[in-house]
Amino acid sequence: MVHAGGISSTTSHTTGIGLSRGGIGVGAATTHGVSQTVLSARMAPPAKHRWIRTLIGGFFVSMILSVFFGGGTAGTLVVLGGWALTGYLAWKGWMHNREEHPTLLDQWTRSFLCDRCGCVFLPSQAMMPPRPGIPS
Ligand SMILES: [Zn+2]
Repeated sequence: MVHAGGISSTTSHTTGIGLSRGGIGVGAATTHGVSQTVLSARMAPPAKHRWIRTLIGGFFVSMILSVFFGGGTAGTLVVLGGWALTGYLAWKGWMHNREEHPTLLDQWTRSFLCDRCGCVFLPSQAMMPPRPGIPS
């Protein structure tokens, strides 16, 4: 909830008048934006790895890089190497989403933010101060 509470969308209008040899020009622009507090950003849920983006990006970067190495053996090796690296990184991302992300998200869902010191904790990790007279 802290995460969502710190996000706000903004809309600002800008109007400008310009004078040039051709005459007077009036321009208007609308800027849409989303602003986020530092606290909200820090409390963001764990991000999923965008492995499809890695795959597509790596594919094209490899192709572009190969151009600089020419169409011969060097270029081919660069393409194959780039694709291999891309495939490996995408696979790592996919595995992260499959194996680690659910746990991280589950921890995030169950975690609390301490209003006093700003620490994030799981209730199971929380310590109760000793209460005088009551044996724990
Ligand atoms: Zn605290």
